[in-house]
Amino acid sequence: MPLRALPSVDQLLKTDKVEVLKRSVGIGRVTAIARRVTQELRAELLAGSTPLQSGATRESLLAEAIRRLDAMCRLDELSGVRRVINATGVILHTNLGRAPLSKGAQEAVAQEATGYCTIEFDLVSGARGRRGGRVEQLLQELIGAEDALVVNNCASAALLILLELATNGEVVVSRGELVEIGGDFRVPDIMSISGARMIEVGTTNRTRLDDYRHALTQRTRLLMRVHQSNYRIIGFTSAPSLNELVSLAHEVGVPFYLDAGSGALNDLTDVGLTDEPIIKDCIAAGVDVVSFSGDKLLGGPQSGIIVGKASTIHRLRRHPLYRALRADKLCLAALEATLLSYARDAERSEIPVLQMLTMEKEQIESRASEFIMRLDSEKPELSVKLVSGESAVGGGSGPNVCPPSALIAISHAFLSPTELEGQLRLSNPPIIARIKDGQVLLDLRTVSAEEENELFRGLIELALLG
Ligand SMILES: *Cc1c(COP(=O)(O)O)cnc(C)c1O
Repeated sequence: MPLRALPSVDQLLKTDKVEVLKRSVGIGRVTAIARRVTQELRAELLAGSTPLQSGATRESLLAEAIRRLDAMCRLDELSGVRRVINATGVILHTNLGRAPLSKGAQEAVAQEATGYCTIEFDLVSGARGRRGGRVEQLLQELIGAEDALVVNNCASAALLILLELATNGEVVVSRGELVEIGGDFRVPDIMSISGARMIEVGTTNRTRLDDYRHALTQRTRLLMRVHQSNYRIIGFTSAPSLNELVSLAHEVGVPFYLDAGSGALNDLTDVGLTDEPIIKDCIAAGVDVVSFSGDKLLGGPQSGIIVGKASTIHRLRRHPLYRALRADKLCLAALEATLLSYARDAERSEIPVLQMLTMEKEQIESRASEFIMRLDSEKPELSVKLVSGESAVGGGSGPNVCPPSALIAISHAFLSPTELEGQLRLSNPPIIARIKDGQVLLDLRTVSAEEENELFRGLIELALLG
């Protein structure tokens, strides 16, 4: 087949299909993609490696080019931020955006914050207002802290705190707490960026109060504890209590900083989260400054929340880097609405993360059975059954907590588990499942009631494949 039968970029751009794409994607990008497609086809023809070779005509080559161009545009679209159905059962799924927002938070963002809003404007006086003022007020009240400050995420909170409180000085921290969280947040790295010298004490599994005491010098600026978050050391372990550390710090006149990470405002021991620091208890224990994430157990938008003594928070607010790390209007609107759920004592019924954490296995089981019954009667290509399994908290919280769940195991007459998982991922909206022991599993714990219908439709469409 001669190369001149290949459609040119210009020819491709004149077709009806590409006209439509031009309007949605923009002529510049479609042209670039059309160029890629024609180059790809040319290379394949030259290499003689393509099934196009035999019997390809001008028309069939053009049709193939259009098909590929369309597919590339679709892949391009999928590579952006897309809503997905998280059927993995991992509640705080880091790759899927951690905490889904409550209805109230979604509405607050959409209705109050996408246009002009009072981000730094006081409606009563007409004068400039303080960014985040109401959120800070709510945090103070809910936690019993003297002051609060919100930044972009917990990593920025730690950086800001170390920079302001410990630059050019020493920070004493246990060797058992030098954690890495999610790949690129590493305590020693943040410490070195902030210009503080890290003084490691104790051992990986045991650190005593005296280890801290012996490390204190004239240069000590801060005592720090980091919550272990995504791992646990079990067996022969020990560490001083929070109260002991606070007393020691205050005895020698340095502040005590707790990076709590997961952010449980209230006690969650009834759902098995027994070793997450409860923020208000930490403040009551006299910790000078605590940082935690807004989008972990708190269940709000991505943010780093700092609470503590007024004098300390005041210094952080005045640091030049605060301007670079502060939260934006969308975040603050969502966080305000999330905190209002706590203020009404309605967090367990309104905030998805807490709803999912507190969901009983029986509840999930009855939803899953009903789902299976509906599906079974529809499509013989899909076989579905109920199996026992576990969900996960995720997001570096409660690594040893595995809430029992009832899972839907699915298999397909013509698709392998990997193919099935892949097809689910590419459905609209994408459905994210997990594969375990050669089975594709769906966990309704992390699927909302509204999403259940979409999940159902996705599976029905899939049954028609193959
Ligand atoms: C999760 C976590 C962080 C990082 O929080 P981001 O909000 O992801 O920046 C920092 N410290 C601890 C202890 C954590 O658990």
